[in-house]
Formats: sequence, structure tokens, C-alpha cells
Amino acid sequence: MKYRVVEIFESINGESSRAGELAVFVRFAGCNLRCSYCDTLWALEKDVECELLSTEEILERILKSKIRCVTLTGGEPLLQPGIKELIELLSSYPEISVEIETNGSVSIAEYDEMENRPIMTLDYKLPSSGVESAMLFENYEHLRPTDVIKFVCSDKADLERAEEVIREYKLTEKCLVYFSPVYGDIEPETIVEYMKEKNLNRVRLQLQLHKFIWPPEMRGV
Ligand code: SF4
Repeated sequence: MKYRVVEIFESINGESSRAGELAVFVRFAGCNLRCSYCDTLWALEKDVECELLSTEEILERILKSKIRCVTLTGGEPLLQPGIKELIELLSSYPEISVEIETNGSVSIAEYDEMENRPIMTLDYKLPSSGVESAMLFENYEHLRPTDVIKFVCSDKADLERAEEVIREYKLTEKCLVYFSPVYGDIEPETIVEYMKEKNLNRVRLQLQLHKFIWPPEMRGV
């Protein structure tokens, strides 16, 4: 099995439950969505420069790095043909801890039976993304307490919709829930005010760390 990989790099996790922790990122090419605020559009282009790497080659690169948190990202990693093989192999190494960043439109059900299943960080694409209709609500039956649902918010309408989804699917009882502002679109303070006003307990505001450390458009960080 060969995967289309656009970059492998070491950095810190910018968001989610492992924010601030070192990680090796494996970024795969291609995505089924086109979010209005996508900051990795270059990785979605059909002719994007990428390497075709086998399961073993990716494992080797990860092991060569001494970092033991691995984040599979994209694009949309779960759409890579045969990705389950790589996920199972990485998860069979007890010292490696895997997180998958997925866009919320692809089923995670087939990973249910895995003993050492990776953390799934699912986006919920709110109205401003333009792709909300692609969200797969069935995924919420397969969440574990260490998983994350991330609401990327651009405006007040997004916050209102996020609140509705959180309450309807009782997400705070099932997993970790984060609000993340689209950089430059909404002030974090506005989100805090909204959380206070609506008593949104067990919801966490998160800022994308790497946007504060490096230039917002910088790749490979
Ligand atoms: S799901 Fe992620 S990679 Fe795909 S278009 Fe949206 S932001 Fe970009």
C-alpha cells in the first residue's frame, strides 16, 4: 500500500487535547471538502507535489524521529486508500500515541473494534465553512472520552449552531469539546462572552498555537 504524503515534519500540536506537545505530523494529500477558511488548500490540489510512501516507510520516518506522538492530518487522512493498515500498524507500537485529525464527514465506525484506537479529533464544520451539509452525525455514536470535537467558529451564527449541535448530541458527555476561532475572523473574547452568556460548561476555547508562534501562513510547523 502506498499513500500520498505531502509532508512529514516535527512540531508542536497546535490544537486539541495535546496542544503544546511535540508531535510528528504526517500530512496526506487530498480532501473531499473545500472549507471557506482552509489553510492547507495547496495540499488538496490534484497535482500537488507529494511522495508515495508505503506503510513501512512512514513507520520508519516516525521511528527515526524520537518523538512519540504522531498526528495524521491532511487534507483528509481517512480518505487515503488503505489508511487502516497504517493506523493499525502505528497503534501496535505501545510507545507511539496516535491522533487523527479528520474533517467530520468520513465515518470512524470501522475503527471501533481496535484495542488501541487512536484519538480521533473531528471537526464540526459550521455554517461559515460552506460545507456543513457534509457532516456525518452517525460518528457521534462512536466517540470515546478522549476524542475531540472541534468547532471552528467564524462568527456569532457559527457559535449558535455549535451550541445547538453540542446540546442535541450531548457532546460534552461523550468527548472533549473545543471552540477554535478562525484566525482573524472572530475575537477569542467574543467566544468567551458567548460561553459565559450561554453557560457552556465543559466546552473549551482553544487558540491555534502555531498561528501565534510562526507566521500564520507558514507551512511545515
Ligand atoms: S476539511 Fe480541512 S483540509 Fe479539507 S478543505 Fe476543510 S479545512 Fe481544508
